[in-house]
Amino acid sequence: MAYLVLARKYRPRRFDDMVGQEHVARTLGHALDAGRVHHAYLFSGIRGLGKTTAARIVARALVCEEGPRRDPCDACEGCRLALEGGHPDIVEIDGASHNKVDDVRDLRERVYYMPQIARRKVYIVDEVHMLSTSAFNALLKTLEEPPEHVHFLFATTEVHKLPATILSRVCRLDFRRVAEGQLAEHLGSIADREDISIEPGALRLVARASEGSVRDAMTLLDQVIAFASEATITEADAREVLGLSEPERIADLVDAFVARDPARALEVLEAILAAGREAGAVAVQLLEHLRTLAIFVRCGPEAVEVTDAERSRLAAQAEGLGAPSWVQGWFDRLAHTLSMLAGHPAPRLLLEMAVLDLSAGEPLEDVLRLAERLVEQPAGPLPRPEGRRAAPRPAGPDRAPSAAVTRRDRQSPLPDDDPDRAELSALLAGALADDGDRGGRARASRTSRRRGSTTPPSDDDDPDGAAASTAAAPDAVSPRPSEPPPPQAGAEPLRDVAPLSAEAAPLARPPGWDEWEALVERCLARDTLTGSVVREVGFGGCTPGAVELWAQPDDFAREQLSTAGPVASIFAQFLSEVFGSAAQVRWVDRPPRVDRAPSLAMVEAERDRAARAAARERALRDDALKRVLEAFEGELVEAEPDPGAPAASEAEVG
Ligand SMILES: [Zn+2]
Repeated sequence: MAYLVLARKYRPRRFDDMVGQEHVARTLGHALDAGRVHHAYLFSGIRGLGKTTAARIVARALVCEEGPRRDPCDACEGCRLALEGGHPDIVEIDGASHNKVDDVRDLRERVYYMPQIARRKVYIVDEVHMLSTSAFNALLKTLEEPPEHVHFLFATTEVHKLPATILSRVCRLDFRRVAEGQLAEHLGSIADREDISIEPGALRLVARASEGSVRDAMTLLDQVIAFASEATITEADAREVLGLSEPERIADLVDAFVARDPARALEVLEAILAAGREAGAVAVQLLEHLRTLAIFVRCGPEAVEVTDAERSRLAAQAEGLGAPSWVQGWFDRLAHTLSMLAGHPAPRLLLEMAVLDLSAGEPLEDVLRLAERLVEQPAGPLPRPEGRRAAPRPAGPDRAPSAAVTRRDRQSPLPDDDPDRAELSALLAGALADDGDRGGRARASRTSRRRGSTTPPSDDDDPDGAAASTAAAPDAVSPRPSEPPPPQAGAEPLRDVAPLSAEAAPLARPPGWDEWEALVERCLARDTLTGSVVREVGFGGCTPGAVELWAQPDDFAREQLSTAGPVASIFAQFLSEVFGSAAQVRWVDRPPRVDRAPSLAMVEAERDRAARAAARERALRDDALKRVLEAFEGELVEAEPDPGAPAASEAEVG
């Protein structure tokens, strides 16, 4: 006798036999028992969940001579014909091959014929989303006023492709993916009935690989049964058929991530791939492991369904994580790689690079965690053991000391009062400044910071404080790391406006300055170009009937303001409004000067600088920040002024 595949042999014949679709069975059963069967049902869900099977049960329940009822009798002529697939009043249509409007028009004419032997006619349309738009329109006419004796049962794997006009006229039932445990249990009961001995682990692997589809699970089980040679089918058999790696090997790989050991990670990956595994399958298994590890870490050991051996390995990995967020980072990186693997000519290379990356990444979280601990530490001097300055600084791209720090921190989180913590900080700081350029600059600015700190702190609104802020100017505007380092520590930083050094004369406020500022604001509000042009010229003051402006004769802003055009006319309008209609412009052929005729751009830059300097002063007095800077031997590059704080006072800008 020919072998009948499991999926066909165990195809459900009644609702109670269906796996994992209890909600569908209940809804349809009630409708049939109560005799209130809708004219059109839509069964949606992924392939292999039993949509067509459910449609056939409903059809049989409708044509059964004892029906309609939940469970057809299976004995009458109607049931017999339906089971054989030859009932004249049950019409099965494949939407993929009968998608033309003519097919549907033909169907529309035939639905009005009375059933031949049953009291009802049932149309089962599979893959209904494949119908063409005109076919849908033709079908819609029938659905709007269906004949009393006709029922439609539609099935689709892509419900989003159906027009809303169809969806609104059907009773929709969504078939769900079957949970792994329920699927494994179902497979086990089938194995029992087939008198096949199979390890529970093998059933679980098959259930997982079929992703909730009952038919896929049955097909895979068929393959595993055909492959196995021993009396009992083992987990290893299933793994071989499914192309899965040993979970131990996948766990080895994650061990290498945790240990930040790229060489070991590559070695394990090579062994897995050498066994003939596909890069994509390995990536998926890795993702599954990381997901399990994440659940283990976040929800506790009891939240994961694994063997005891796997649980203890997960525990060791969780112990080794610097922070739970590592797993999420690995997962995201790997998921990104997986999305690129399909269709890539060199999937193996992609996976190798991802694995290298995951096992060698910089443990940034550690630095943050350390900083948090320092901030939380009560005020007081930091332990500074001798020889801290002599802590080894790695040169070049060798990141080994950084990894060493991570491992030490991981194995025994150091208490805050442990002198080793300071050493750790020194190591970490050394690793952070591991390229010569950055290291040199960090040392240089440390020197300047120490020099600056001899100035006693002063109140922000104290006129003497202005001197202190001004003295700190080189630090306040010290370049960001992306900018080239200054030629020497304390050198004059580059600025896009005239520099204001410690020796520079205080900012001038010529008579009429407030009016000038109001004028620029009005120009800006009216027209951005005009405003930004006026902002750049120097204001030398106003005398009755004249406003003195400073700019070189070939200056762009001056040309715009003195040549007839929209900019000049807007400027002239506000000039007369603010300074009186008789006011004339007197040009001085010199660039704006901070101490004589500043431009508004200069004044605003100076205000911003003063606000930053004040914010910096405040930040440097903060105990928590002091501890962080000390521990990392860092520099305060910039302190953002609090946007809610009042603008810098006049005293600060001079
Ligand atoms: Zn029957």
